[in-house]
Amino acid sequence: MAERSSRTTRRASGGSATCKGCGVSVRWMDGAKHRGLPPTWKKTKTGTYCLLCRREQAGEKAVIKAGDELNREDRAKLRSEAIIEFEVRRDPTRADGEIAKAVRSSVAAVGRARKKIEA
Ligand SMILES: [Zn+2]
Repeated sequence: MAERSSRTTRRASGGSATCKGCGVSVRWMDGAKHRGLPPTWKKTKTGTYCLLCRREQAGEKAVIKAGDELNREDRAKLRSEAIIEFEVRRDPTRADGEIAKAVRSSVAAVGRARKKIEA
């Protein structure tokens, strides 16, 4: 049996993915802390998405669910609430202040979202 060329197996460790939403790419090495996609990315039925796009989708979903009745202000509010809830659910162990900073919201808003989820 002939040995396989090492050239074809050299890229076996690690991997990469491209977000279907915004086209950003990520690369990683296997064998470190985790394997596969970074924890903030997610593979869904429709494709692989980065954190920013997943946030965007969470907001979009809430707005669509609410329907066309909402005015622009309510829609923006709903979207931001949904994004905060998404972040709280994604990692509930993070402090409110940390989540608020990540999604550019207020600590109070994160606290409200957390109460709503835990209720
Ligand atoms: Zn993206």
